[in-house]
Amino acid sequence: MVARTHFRTCTLCEAMCGLQLEIEGERVVSVKGDPDDPLSRGHICPKGPALVGLHEDPDRLRQPQRKTATGWKSIGWDEALDEAATRLHAVQEKHGRHAVAAYIGNPAVHNLGTVLYAPSLLRTLGSRYRYSATSVDQLPQMLAAYLMFGHQLLLPVPDIDRTDHMVILGANPLVSNGSIMSSPDIKRRLKDIQDRGGRVTVIDPRRTETAELADRHLFVRPGSDAWLLLSMLHVVFEQDRVELRHLEAVLKNMGPLRAAVEPFSPERAAGPTGIDAPAIRRLVEDFMAAPRAVLYARVGVSMHPFWGLCHWLVNCFNLLTGNFDTEGGSMFATPAFDIVGSAKALGIGGGSFGRWHSKVRGLPEFGGELPVATLAEDLERDDEDPIRGFVTIAGNPVLSTPNGRRLETALEGLEFMLSVDFYINETTRHADLILPPSGPLEHSHFDVVFHALAVRNTAKYSPPAFDIRQDQRHDHQIIAGIERRLLEARGAPRRAQAAVWARERLGPEAIVEFGFRVGPRGFGGGLRKGLRGLSMSRLRREPHGVDLGPLQPCMPARLPARRGGATPHIDLAPEPMLEDLARLEASEHDLTNHQLQLIGRRQLRSNNSWMHNVPKLASGKPRCTLRMHADDAKRLGIRDGQDVEITSRVGTITAPVELGDELMLGVVSLPHGFGHHRPGTRLRVATERAGVSINDLTDDQRTDGLSGVAAFSGVPVTVTPSRPE
Ligand code: SF4
Repeated sequence: MVARTHFRTCTLCEAMCGLQLEIEGERVVSVKGDPDDPLSRGHICPKGPALVGLHEDPDRLRQPQRKTATGWKSIGWDEALDEAATRLHAVQEKHGRHAVAAYIGNPAVHNLGTVLYAPSLLRTLGSRYRYSATSVDQLPQMLAAYLMFGHQLLLPVPDIDRTDHMVILGANPLVSNGSIMSSPDIKRRLKDIQDRGGRVTVIDPRRTETAELADRHLFVRPGSDAWLLLSMLHVVFEQDRVELRHLEAVLKNMGPLRAAVEPFSPERAAGPTGIDAPAIRRLVEDFMAAPRAVLYARVGVSMHPFWGLCHWLVNCFNLLTGNFDTEGGSMFATPAFDIVGSAKALGIGGGSFGRWHSKVRGLPEFGGELPVATLAEDLERDDEDPIRGFVTIAGNPVLSTPNGRRLETALEGLEFMLSVDFYINETTRHADLILPPSGPLEHSHFDVVFHALAVRNTAKYSPPAFDIRQDQRHDHQIIAGIERRLLEARGAPRRAQAAVWARERLGPEAIVEFGFRVGPRGFGGGLRKGLRGLSMSRLRREPHGVDLGPLQPCMPARLPARRGGATPHIDLAPEPMLEDLARLEASEHDLTNHQLQLIGRRQLRSNNSWMHNVPKLASGKPRCTLRMHADDAKRLGIRDGQDVEITSRVGTITAPVELGDELMLGVVSLPHGFGHHRPGTRLRVATERAGVSINDLTDDQRTDGLSGVAAFSGVPVTVTPSRPE
């Protein structure tokens, strides 16, 4: 058998590691890190080889499945796509355009076909009931970017490769390899900071794997990060250490920011945060003493009732200490396919906020979608404007959104549910029709999202490793196929139908090529330059990818035009943020009142719920355990290893407990993505190690008052020894 070597980018997390696959016939015989990849430099984590596990998974669907009275039945593609469009159209004809809701899951952003084609299908559906994994853990970061810089996708990333002091707040990149900071081989990158004489500080309610490596770790009470950040800014103003550098002319509203942080001294923040005032002052002092420093915050501060405020304050801290858009600070990637600079040409929106609100609680729209915390109650509504159809694409919201049990009950009331997914999982088991796309080794890939969030500018293209079978379809073919038939069912003009047909035939690579040509980077700046620069044909000739160099200062040139003709600027004190401070102040005493608070826990061998069916990753000792401080356990009469009942406002689950001293007192931690005991799934490996779902405890009614997104972290719970059966 002749072996061949195939290089591709791993799509299982944001890190974009380069993989080197040895393939014999139809089998992958080895997977290694690609040492010539300019971003990952040979690194992979245990999940990388799991791409093969997904490819070979006997539970992965290849053909459309229709639910019948006697079980799932395979049907042909034309029949399936016709049925999908006809039934969606029927629901909208009967109940109105907004009667079909849609949820797009996290794997969608790792898939070229879905990320480029799903927005058009959603526009054609025309429903204002759109939801996605964005409002699970990152929407407020985008909200801060929208309100401050004028574009929801203008998200800064830490220049980790050149900084001298990195402060990591509520993130565990040693396990995640960075989020909104694509940073493969993060351990080496953090150690490099230390090797060049710099330091790493971690602030987290748990002494995480990253904290173990850091020079300093501070425990912080879950949900209190906004207090900490405000007090850090307070110190900067108090000591008159504001340093604006080249951005002074475009910064607006310094006065209101100064006034806003004035009441939040470190002495006052010490109570809510659990960090004493001298430690906060020392933290700021050390940060400002470093020649180049960066504050990075992620999921831990992105999942509690004040997460919108946090990302505004993180940006302000980097800006005011002179560490924004400068080497070693908080910078912007300038990717070849620029979803910000080319947004208009690519039909990508710069953002919106509060154009409409959810019907039950009035939670605000952001970027065309509603917070997923409203999904269950929206599906339950039985008013003059009901939702009776539901589309999921690459999502498992029963396990990944708050109060999953309420959602699965709500799914039972639908007239039609369509899932584009290659698993029958806890969510898609409720569908009437499942359309499975090709697997991760069967389609091409260019990362249009994570190149824009990476710590180094690179461009990498992966061709398919295997051809698909005749009876398979790619994501873009499925999504465009539904859209074209929907337009046909509505009697839309032939021109509109032909445009979708043409996009389906062209394929996603043609859109990427177009993106290169209209991009503002050195390779673009217009069609003529683009033709001389980066192209798909060049990327096809360079299987390891192209190195486009370190992050570059790009402000203020990269700031987009503002609505209403206002000049591009950075708003240091957006009105919605200032207004939300009153809510924060009112919470001052609540933070210390909970007996126990539950936080999540990311694990290296897992990514949300979608890798639990890969035997190599699922093996080993059970990982769905509640971690707890031994002193809390002693107080509650709990022994190491025993089963405990964890109860929140919305439910009770049972899990084994692991005791230690890694968590601060009063905090317990459970990983997410488990709970595979639901009947009717086809995930044989995952079901054997079902675990319990943290989202059977998280509360859909507990939200960030600013953005309306769910507060998954810091959930008040009680923990008791499990009663014997
Ligand atoms: S760190 Fe992420 S991108 Fe790299 S091999 Fe692991 S899962 Fe894949």
